[in-house]
Formats: sequence, C-alpha cells, structure tokens
Amino acid sequence: MTTSKGEVFEAVAPRLRLLVLQPTQFCNIDCSYCYLSNRTSTARMSLETLDLICQRLFESPLLGASLDLAWHGGEPLAVPLSWYEQAVALVEQRRPAHVRVKHCFQTNGLLMNDAWVEFFARTGARVGLSIDGPADLHNSNRRTRRGGGTHKEVMRAVSLLQEHGHDFHVITVLTEPALDEAEKLFEFYVLNKIKEVGFNIEEVEGINRVSSLAATHVETRFRNFVQRFLNLVWSNPGMIRVREFEDGIAFILSRNPVRDPQNVPFNIVSISHDGVISTFSPELLGAHHMRFTHFGFGHVSTHRLEDVEREPLFQTVSQEIERGVHACECTCPYFRWCGGGAPANKLFETGGFDTTETMHCRLTRKILLDELLALIETHLTPPDAVTTAEPVHGNFRWS
Ligand code: SF4
Repeated sequence: MTTSKGEVFEAVAPRLRLLVLQPTQFCNIDCSYCYLSNRTSTARMSLETLDLICQRLFESPLLGASLDLAWHGGEPLAVPLSWYEQAVALVEQRRPAHVRVKHCFQTNGLLMNDAWVEFFARTGARVGLSIDGPADLHNSNRRTRRGGGTHKEVMRAVSLLQEHGHDFHVITVLTEPALDEAEKLFEFYVLNKIKEVGFNIEEVEGINRVSSLAATHVETRFRNFVQRFLNLVWSNPGMIRVREFEDGIAFILSRNPVRDPQNVPFNIVSISHDGVISTFSPELLGAHHMRFTHFGFGHVSTHRLEDVEREPLFQTVSQEIERGVHACECTCPYFRWCGGGAPANKLFETGGFDTTETMHCRLTRKILLDELLALIETHLTPPDAVTTAEPVHGNFRWS
C-alpha cells in the first residue's frame, strides 16, 4: 500500500460484495467431484469467532451498503439450527443500520426439515439446493459415504421448500454423461417446478485432480448441450431461468468491460471456521499447494480485513493473479466479456495464477458466449445496452 492519497482510497474503497463463511468443513455426503480436502473434520465455527468476524467486517472500509453472506462449507446444515439462530441474531446485533445483509445457504438438502425452512423464511435467507438432475445422473456422483444415492432425500427438500412457498434455486454440476441429456434435464426441472438453475461444471480443483469434461472431444458435446438447453429455454419462455445465460447476456450487452470478482482482491472474502481470512476464489480457502503452501492471508484475531494487503503471501498471490489477468487482456478476444478468469481454476489446471486459458474458461466463458451471441444474432434486436457488468442473477429478462 502506498501513502498516495488516491491510491490509499483505491485500496480501501467499498468493494466487498460477498462474504463466504465456513461454519464447518464437515460434509455429510461424499460427492465424487468434491474439491474439499478436510470434509470429515467436525470442527465448527464458535460464536466467539463469529463475533470477531462481525467486528472485522463491520469496521471495514471495504464494506458498502449491502452484502451477501454465504454460509458455505462443508455442508452448512450439518451445524445445528440452534447455532444459526444465535449466529444470525449476532450478525443482526452487530450490523450497522445502513448495511443490508442477505444470508444465503447452499446445501445438499439432506438435513432439511420444517424447522429449517421456517428459519429460512423468518430470516429471508436465499436457499440453493445442489441437484444434478434426475436420479440416475444425480446418484452417480452425489453419494453417501457408504455409496448410496441421495436423490430421494434432496427431492424431499424440494417438496418441503415448495410446500412452505420458499423460493430456491438449484445448482447442477455438469459431468460428461449429462452432456447428452439436455432434454432430460430440462424436463426434470419443469416437472419438479424448479424455476431457477445454475450450471457448474466438474472442475479440476483442490483435491479433485481430474474432470470428465477435460478431453478435447467433450468440448463439442458441451457446445451441443449449451445450444440445446439454450433453445429449450428460448422456446419455452418463462419456464426456467438459467444463471449463466442471464449473466452472459448482461455481459454481452454491457457498455463496460467485465472484471471477474474472483480476481479482484476483496470482492469476495472467505473466512474459515477457525477465523482464517482468504480472498479471490473461495475455493482457495483451505486448499494446499506445493508452491504457496496455503492461501490463508491473515486471521481475524490479528488482522483487520484490509491489513491482509500488507502480507507478503497476499502480495505474491495478488501480483501473480494480476499478471494472469494482464496476459488474458493481451491475448484473448473474449477478455472484455470474461474479465480474466477465476484464479483457482488457473492455478489448479495450469500450476500458476499468471496463465490464461483453462478448460473452465473454454467451457463456461468461450463456448457459452459464442452460443449466446449466436442466439442474439438469430433472434433478438438488442435493446439499449446496459451500463453495468454486474451479474444480474434473478433480474434480467430477455424480453
Ligand atoms: S476466456 Fe479464458 S483466456 Fe480468455 S480472458 Fe477469460 S480466462 Fe482469460
């Protein structure tokens, strides 16, 4: 950090958009593509640690007027509901009046019951369920430690949320067998009245060293999947909203170049159950790496959030990430609409942050943008360009 007035302001200007808190590393199931190294540990965040986090958070000039607080583990519902009752009350007690906090839970749904849904309704929490489609697709990867399928239980969570009228979205991880099943997936969402979907891909990340999507010939099938699903969404208006399609269209129409929040320091801050602070891609929290060892840049007991910028490890990682973004800017025609990619994917696929293309960006940026542009050229008269490149989950309409 320099002493120049302008640069100091730049360093601490409000820019924290998403705080990811890890209530526990533990997960009650054992998905084949999971990137977490320590998901059998039952250690939990204490309320004392959460209080310290609140202190660091709400005193920080990095914070603006609103914040998404994502409880993400491990499986967040593996921590008792009584703990969250106290945790949410504590955040509410410490929150300055002008700061809005939206709680978000991404869960495998197995532990959901009426009491949880009533809690979500009472706190206005946003809920995401992890469902990989119909039972055969879902159960081939999302299994218990004994190898049993988990589809029946997660569909019980769908019913509970729907009975209570609590909106939710679904995250589906695409693996190679799903690529031939666009129609089957679309039908599954429609039949089960699932209206908001986000597609993740099986990534090479953390301890998950291989992906069924990595082979070059799979990219053609991925492109076909995107084309087919996009056409299903387009020809059935109002049935399903797909996060990637809405965000991608907003990026294409934006007047401003896109910057990926994962490669901007402090746009996303992740804090572990025991108070370790990380930033950039949330998947870096708790990850091990031969060259960097870890990505814990500070601790809430010793660091204000903005103090992390002074740490040598942060500076090394940050500078390498910035070199990667710059290399993308110099070489990639998609840069304006991508923003230079996710650091975690670059690191785990290529061995460094200062690199450019990954499988992740070929599939989720290049192919997706190609197909969205093709759709726009075929069907749409573009409306006035929007002026922001913020992701617009939930707000954007095509017509
Ligand atoms: S699409 Fe890939 S190579 Fe291009 S800017 Fe994004 S991350 Fe970099």
